[in-house]
Amino acid sequence: MSTIFSKIINKEIPADIVFESDNILAFKDINPQAPVHILIIPKIEIPKVTDLNGKEHASLLGEMIDAANKLAKENGIDESGFRLVLNCGDNGGQEVYHLHLHLLGGRQMKWPPG
Ligand code: 5GP
Repeated sequence: MSTIFSKIINKEIPADIVFESDNILAFKDINPQAPVHILIIPKIEIPKVTDLNGKEHASLLGEMIDAANKLAKENGIDESGFRLVLNCGDNGGQEVYHLHLHLLGGRQMKWPPG
């Protein structure tokens, strides 16, 4: 089932887009949890991590990591460090069922996470 992120991909609703390629889109989180909080998503509809498999999605996931590294550098957090998060399912705290990689940085992260 499509989510609000499909509307962002199709430019039906606005988002602060910071990177786009044929396969992925990255935009600023509407409710940022850190000075840098960017969501990196595939353009195809994959609801969650358990819908991924390495063979089929390795290159897509690689592109998402490459985008995260590029955006971390552009935002000056590549040296200081950052956190990448994939929430999966209810207990994982997933709210939007369109796979998304959170890039969080610009402050000290805590562990364990909430
Ligand atoms: P999740 O909890 O599913 O891992 O994360 C969903 C994220 O999407 C949340 O951090 C939330 O703030 C963000 N989000 C939800 N709706 C929108 C939206 O319409 N635009 C943007 N830019 N971010 C959104």
